[in-house]
Amino acid sequence: MGGNRTSVHEQGDYRLIVNRAWCKGCELCVKSCPTKILRLDEEAKVEVSEIKRCIFCGVCELRCPDFAIRLEKPRATKEAKARPKVRAKRG
Ligand code: SF4
Ligand code: SF4
Repeated sequence: MGGNRTSVHEQGDYRLIVNRAWCKGCELCVKSCPTKILRLDEEAKVEVSEIKRCIFCGVCELRCPDFAIRLEKPRATKEAKARPKVRAKRG
């Protein structure tokens, strides 16, 4: 085991980030993950077994009382592009 406190799991532009140092092994996320891809490792820290099956629903992040697991989704680039550009024309 190294001092790897954070593990990052990626699926395209989506990320699931686990801060092992903050995980207390309560299993709330494990029990509520709809795709059952979370489990505790031998140190009772959460680990992601199959990031490919993650649907990035955010339940684990919501349930974790210790902010030990969080999602990073791509920025809403479409929205940003769709935002109307207001050009003030003077004169
Ligand atoms: S985002 Fe949803 S599917 Fe992915 S690990 Fe968390 S609870 Fe499970
Ligand atoms: S809910 Fe949070 S503290 Fe509990 S096992 Fe999951 S990541 Fe660890």
